[in-house]
Amino acid sequence: LTVLGIETSCDETAAAVVRGPVQREILSNTIRSQIDEHTEFGGVVPEIAARAHIDVLDRIVAEAMNDSGCSWDDIDAVAATAGPGLIGGVIVGFMTAKAIAMAADKPLIGVNHLEGHALTARLTDDLDFPFLLLLVSGGHSQFLMVRGVGDYERLGTTIDDAIGEAFDKTAKLLGLPYPGGPHVEKMAAKGDVRRFRLPRPLLDRPGLDMSFAGLKTALRTQAKKLEPVDDQTIADLCAGFQRAVSDVLATRTGTALNLFRERHPQSEPVIVVAGGVAANQEIRNALTHAAAETGARFVAPPMHLCTDNAAMIAWAGIERMQLGPVNDMSLPPRPRWPLDSENAGILGAGK
Ligand code: ATP
Ligand code: MG
Ligand code: FE
Repeated sequence: LTVLGIETSCDETAAAVVRGPVQREILSNTIRSQIDEHTEFGGVVPEIAARAHIDVLDRIVAEAMNDSGCSWDDIDAVAATAGPGLIGGVIVGFMTAKAIAMAADKPLIGVNHLEGHALTARLTDDLDFPFLLLLVSGGHSQFLMVRGVGDYERLGTTIDDAIGEAFDKTAKLLGLPYPGGPHVEKMAAKGDVRRFRLPRPLLDRPGLDMSFAGLKTALRTQAKKLEPVDDQTIADLCAGFQRAVSDVLATRTGTALNLFRERHPQSEPVIVVAGGVAANQEIRNALTHAAAETGARFVAPPMHLCTDNAAMIAWAGIERMQLGPVNDMSLPPRPRWPLDSENAGILGAGK
């Protein structure tokens, strides 16, 4: 199967052509980031994002088709993100996909963006169900038990800010540019982690929920006391923040792996990480360590497939097509679409 994928749920306009499921190959993977358009506002502006998607999507799709060396005859289906995300962008991408599918007479697959993230590791690695997924991005921080295509159980989630969001807010309050994650990481490398002891919210409680808003507030309080903060203090605060987040994730990952073992004693315990925050080297190291400690396998897809991209959407489409014929022409775009809701994931997409 060869599928054209389209992704427009946030601030990346992306299209890709992927072949699978047996011989898995990314034939093209085009992406245009809108970061430059949003930087001056310190975050993604939904209306600007939607307009930018409209401006470039047709060119991005043409480029992805061109790079893949495929003609329309080679394409078996069109898959596009149908939610969740910024609704203006989702509408642009999903309606464009509907138009292409109609014009080229191909089936349309409406993909849950989170399912795209969840299944990416099966494109890049040899990975069977079930596995644990830690999704850490700008909008989500959750542990999911991935039992099969369309079969997800959310085990725990942040009760307030997503981790990427916490990185971005921390950066903002320290005067670092948007998006904050990479800047906080760069500063942290020059900092002393012992100078500021920041809280590990919720870790005294059982379960897999997490909280990051308090951490950011604690950091703000510390910074306020020292105003005006010099570069070394910023670096030390970044180091303390990053370490606190890593500790929380590593501890929760250990708990999640124990739960996995209890529920699936016959399966190899695997933890997969996805989402933009997975770019963070200290967090990766902490997760690698937590997995190794319990003898579990740690899988991290290459960075450009952890952040938003269309290859993961095309791949989710291929996975869906294994389960039978699909036609999502009447599916509406959705701003919210939790993966563990009753009609979650692509299995329930037509409902
Ligand atoms: P979602 O997928 O939940 O809709 P999103 O599209 O904003 O959200 P991604 O594009 O996957 O998420 O990731 C972006 C987030 O990742 C931003 O919040 C950014 O700060 C964070 N991030 C990127 N690089 C790093 C890094 N090196 N360290 C920490 N965070 C990072
Ligand atoms: Mg993004
Ligand atoms: Fe995403």
